[in-house]
Amino acid sequence: MADYVILSSNGGYVVKDRATGKNIGEPHGSVAEAAAARRELRRRAASSPRPCITCEKAFLSEGPHHRMCASCRTLSADAPFEIGHRRARIGVRS
Ligand SMILES: [Zn+2]
Repeated sequence: MADYVILSSNGGYVVKDRATGKNIGEPHGSVAEAAAARRELRRRAASSPRPCITCEKAFLSEGPHHRMCASCRTLSADAPFEIGHRRARIGVRS
């Protein structure tokens, strides 16, 4: 798996690919910004295509916990009742 290091450069911080030695993207103003960019890069590097559990279309999954594509997930979240999810319904009247 690709790994990334954060280095200071010209008063900013760059994310560098450890394997290729290349800087990725523009320099960041703070270590926190560079760390956030690195987190996103790692997340994407760990993703692999897998079929959605609902519609079976291939999507970029982050791992075994991520089995439903974004559009099916949205549909599921909009459903009024869902087994296994507690939704705050007390006091809601329509
Ligand atoms: Zn789907």
